[in-house]
Amino acid sequence: MTEQTKFSVLCSLYTWIQRSKSSAKKRSKFRKFLDSFCRDKNYFAAIRLILPNLDRERGSYGLKESVLATYLIDALGMSRDSEDALRLVNWRKGGAKTGANAGNFAQVAAEVLQRRQGMQSGDLTIKELNDLLDQLASSENRAEKALILSTLIKKTNAQEMKWIIMIILKDLKLGISEKSIFNEFHPDAEDMFNVTCDLKLVCEKLKDRNQRHKRQDIEVGKAVRPQLAKRVANASEAWKKLHGKDVVVECKFDGDRIQIHKNGTEIHFFSRNFIDHSEYRHAMSDIIIQNILVDRCILDGEMLVWDTLLNRFAEFGSNQEIAKAARDGLDSDRQLCYVAFDILYVGDTSVIHQSLKERHELLRKVVRPLKGRLEILVPNGGLNTHRSPGEPCWSFVAHNVDEVERFFKETIENRDEGIVLKDLSSKWEPSDRSGKWLKLKPEYVHPGSDLDVLIIGGYYGSGRHGGEVAQFLVALAERPSPNTHPTKFISFCRVGTGLPDDELDAVVTKLKPYFRKYEYPKKRPPSFYQVTNHSKERPDVWVESPEKSIILSITSDIRTIESEVFAAPYSLRFPRIDRVKYDKAWYECLDVQSFIELVHSSNGT
Ligand code: ATP
Repeated sequence: MTEQTKFSVLCSLYTWIQRSKSSAKKRSKFRKFLDSFCRDKNYFAAIRLILPNLDRERGSYGLKESVLATYLIDALGMSRDSEDALRLVNWRKGGAKTGANAGNFAQVAAEVLQRRQGMQSGDLTIKELNDLLDQLASSENRAEKALILSTLIKKTNAQEMKWIIMIILKDLKLGISEKSIFNEFHPDAEDMFNVTCDLKLVCEKLKDRNQRHKRQDIEVGKAVRPQLAKRVANASEAWKKLHGKDVVVECKFDGDRIQIHKNGTEIHFFSRNFIDHSEYRHAMSDIIIQNILVDRCILDGEMLVWDTLLNRFAEFGSNQEIAKAARDGLDSDRQLCYVAFDILYVGDTSVIHQSLKERHELLRKVVRPLKGRLEILVPNGGLNTHRSPGEPCWSFVAHNVDEVERFFKETIENRDEGIVLKDLSSKWEPSDRSGKWLKLKPEYVHPGSDLDVLIIGGYYGSGRHGGEVAQFLVALAERPSPNTHPTKFISFCRVGTGLPDDELDAVVTKLKPYFRKYEYPKKRPPSFYQVTNHSKERPDVWVESPEKSIILSITSDIRTIESEVFAAPYSLRFPRIDRVKYDKAWYECLDVQSFIELVHSSNGT
């Protein structure tokens, strides 16, 4: 019986899969497990523990590594400043003993547990584990969660507990794709999951591998995995890829991808990972009920915030806050606005097999737009809101590559996220990224000049960069008086990507002798650095003085964001290291004032 199978059996399967080199071997281990231990065909009980990130039955545990660390400390009854407790809290950094495991929380935890748990398995069954995980997800209270964890610890050994931690973190790192697991389970499993996002249903309906299942269509009330866009480098590549097709070019809105499912007065707001965002209900349900002119329907689009004072969409990041303000009846100049760019279901029929051109027609018929609240994105019109003064177009049918290029340039000037090109004859296909939709983003464009910034701190990495500095806190200088060097450096942004590993290593090696640990709140950073108290800023190490440091040239999406995390008034969105400027002295760092001038000139203000 699956449920009575010991969890230790599943742990052996994890280890085998992880150690096997070829995908075929990994799959055959999984098959053997199903055939030997799931004879009663209760596959869900086991598969939800193999694909924990797809299991929606259990809601969220609300436990990321840092929180899990404190709960484990409580559960193990450790003192907060014991060596092992610090090891858990500082899991990214590692130390003399955890060096090899730094960056892998489950592994660090296994080491700490090893010293407290016996080697012997506690005989936990799959059923017991699922029950305890249910309790862990449903309990909201800290003491209760710690108690459940300590029960789990009592019933397992360190290796088993390590896997449970990975289940809780929803990433088993088995080195096998979800596609392979699905295909080995049943040839129709992936398809069915894509249109239902329901692992339990897949496990229950597809018990017989030899019996094929009629292709299931989408249903109102069940999240569908979204159609995705393939990235291209420039307008001509996009145009070439869609050669000979009718192409619509759309603005790429920067919000939350949300599927709205309407069934009478029942409304769901499913995100990309199939979570129903009920917090949108208060602000949006009535509008949806009144302005979608059919009883049942699924819309695909982006949830954004519309600023009624500025008459434009607000920058990404305030959806939750505005949803809560609406729920609490607070007055605001900002409101949620849904932009529907596709329609997947109308009345009692799925329409994903119709062409995009036909679906645009349906959108026009089915949705009555409401300015700044509910908009439709269809070529040449639709949206009531203007893109920018004198530039009302958010979407158009393109006739040549120059039109695409021009639209993309406007996007950059407008500081939008990018553009999406779509084949108007294409179907909407769940989880497809084959190129029916192409995206073009203005990331990493220089804001007219190099941004030469100074490294003032470092953050330890995780995974392959565990235990070493892998990201930097960089700063702008305070403008010095003429003919003097700057004396103050103002924290600006955190940057890690962009450099090849060997170049990153070289910078870290050069700076290593000058890194000083920063143990908040005991030690303040050196006084020539102006920083905030924000926990998101706090680096793990500081460079002991600016003269010892190195200048990096960074680039970014041209959009800046107003910053509370860093001391400078603006920070960068998606910053990236372009080059290490060994030829520049520390005092040649860009100053804040020049940077602000740059921002204003690129904003046109
Ligand atoms: P990205 O970080 O570029 O959004 P992603 O992996 O989240 O990447 P992609 O499928 O690659 O998603 O890009 C499409 C995403 O762009 C959608 O998920 C959606 O959230 C967003 N988007 C914004 N405007 C549009 C639009 N007009 N048409 C399609 N997608 C859009």
